[in-house]
Amino acid sequence: MVFLARFLYGNLKGYRLLVVGAFAATILEVIVAGQVAFVTKFIIDKATPPHTDPGGIYTIILNLFKPVAAGQSHAIFTTITFLLITLVVLGLLDSVFTYAQQFLASYIAQHLTARLRQKLFDHLQRLSLDWHGKQKKGDLVQRVTGDIASVEKLITDGLVDLLGSVFTVLNAIVLMLAAQVQLTVISIVMVPALFFIIFTYTRAIKAAAKRASKSVGQVADVATEDVGAITVLKAFSLEDREALRFNRYVGKSRQAGLEAGGLQAQFTPVVNLLITIGTAVILGEGCFALATGTFPIVNIQANPPVTAGTLVLFLSLLKQLYQPMKDLSKLTNVATAAAAGAERMQEVLDQAPEVTESVAPYHGPQRFQGDIRFEQVIFGYTAERPVLKGIDLHIPAGKKVALVGLSGGGKTTLVKLIPRFYETQQGAVKIDGIDNRIIPLDVLRRNVTQVLQESVLFEGTILDNIKIGRPDATMEQVFEAARQAQIHETIMSLPDGYDTAVRERGKNFSGGQRQRLAIARAILCDSPILVLDEPTAALDVEAEAEVLRVIDKLVVGRTVLMISHRLSTLGKVDEIIVLKDGVIAEQGNYQDLKARNGIFAGLLKEQNRYNVDYSGES
Ligand code: ADP
Ligand code: MG
Repeated sequence: MVFLARFLYGNLKGYRLLVVGAFAATILEVIVAGQVAFVTKFIIDKATPPHTDPGGIYTIILNLFKPVAAGQSHAIFTTITFLLITLVVLGLLDSVFTYAQQFLASYIAQHLTARLRQKLFDHLQRLSLDWHGKQKKGDLVQRVTGDIASVEKLITDGLVDLLGSVFTVLNAIVLMLAAQVQLTVISIVMVPALFFIIFTYTRAIKAAAKRASKSVGQVADVATEDVGAITVLKAFSLEDREALRFNRYVGKSRQAGLEAGGLQAQFTPVVNLLITIGTAVILGEGCFALATGTFPIVNIQANPPVTAGTLVLFLSLLKQLYQPMKDLSKLTNVATAAAAGAERMQEVLDQAPEVTESVAPYHGPQRFQGDIRFEQVIFGYTAERPVLKGIDLHIPAGKKVALVGLSGGGKTTLVKLIPRFYETQQGAVKIDGIDNRIIPLDVLRRNVTQVLQESVLFEGTILDNIKIGRPDATMEQVFEAARQAQIHETIMSLPDGYDTAVRERGKNFSGGQRQRLAIARAILCDSPILVLDEPTAALDVEAEAEVLRVIDKLVVGRTVLMISHRLSTLGKVDEIIVLKDGVIAEQGNYQDLKARNGIFAGLLKEQNRYNVDYSGES
């Protein structure tokens, strides 16, 4: 709870004055509500013998009106009229404060929610790929939506209510004490018992609810898993087995839900019964004291005497004493959920981005020539297992280099270090001689464009997808890029053309079309460094030939790192680098390496044995 308070305080920066305002409105509302009960007492006391005058501030105000109430000073009629008007005015004030309190609470909650979402989302985007790789998608989504909602609920329903409840109890006790100390003591004796019952129930309900929500999570997990793998399940005819498994989880979830629901159903009746018993005790003591002047059972002389007004006051204040306790116990649920939510959010926020922006001001170029240097680079995804074990590599601006080697050799890893998706453990990666850790990430990534094996498209239109690296591009520039990528005609033939929606990461396009869209995107970015990580590996032969033709145009005038497993296509590159076990094993042009009869020549021979039919090289 201390954590929750600190979390809220920190994130409510800029809204703290409004929070104070909401609290002030709450406190004022409670005071006014208490006064309504008090004025009611005065009215009844004035109407019943011995027709006592109201006390405190009301007498003072009433005396101010004395001259106005011509002669009839303190007459029953005038006083009661005055008190009734006061009652209505208090009611009006109560409404105003209630409105202010609710409005401010929801205003603050909405702003806080938006702020937290933004903050969390921004932070998620900056966390390393490595970290993202280890997360469950559903869990992250839950943090950005559900957990924030629980904090929002605390603010709208909870925070103001919490303070309101505590203050209402205090206020009720003060007003009771002011009216009749002895009856107050009798009323408060009931409180611990009630509190104990409420507390016990709440704890049991909470535990059951936790079990229930956990099994709901399991049900969701199984459903997500199975729906995701439905093709495989069908292929192996596992539907029935999975249905049984699902059924088991659903059963467990129902059991837990029933337990929680059962306890919840008992809670209100039990508490209400206790309140009724408590009220009966007070009413009994009060009525006897009213009639005889002595409290029965405890046998104490009532002093000051109990009046009809006192009894009415106590009956209405008892509600103000017990009701908040019920609310408070419900509130602990909301607060527990919010605390858990806040903790889960903070967990993400505390996750330091592994790649951090340099703090030093940057005065280097915004656009680079494209000279790349790896200096003694050592890197591994974990500290224990290095993937790159000392890479020294210089690629002059404008050179085309191919990276080859067995799968798992570290090719992809190596090129990911250029735009700093990961941080080197030792050594440096330099662009035009500048350590890439000094270059602001957005500048760096504008200068390095990648076309990957599977180009993921984003939700949005085709136009959005092509323009993503350069949002200010004109339509003409987009068309030109698409023409060069040989996708313009295809796009234009669609009913919605460039406004065609991309669905589910591009499932409504073929692999070759996706790659050509990605290439159009890269052409538009026009960055000096281009990384091609097996851009045709997922394509059939025809689509591959088409994409390769387009790539030929894309590479002109740029530094290119091309990862390829289709070795026969590498005749045109300036240099081939063979990666093996995290080091550069061979380096040279196609003819040199072929002649050397080393690793590359071996790979080439092996591939030609299977690829003769369609390698394109005779
Ligand atoms: P290549 O592209 O040459 O096939 P990679 O660079 O993808 O090789 O992988 C090199 C090694 O690093 C492999 O052993 C692979 O299992 C490991 N690896 C790749 N990506 C990750 C990752 N995100 N987390 C942990 N290990 C990884
Ligand atoms: Mg790879």
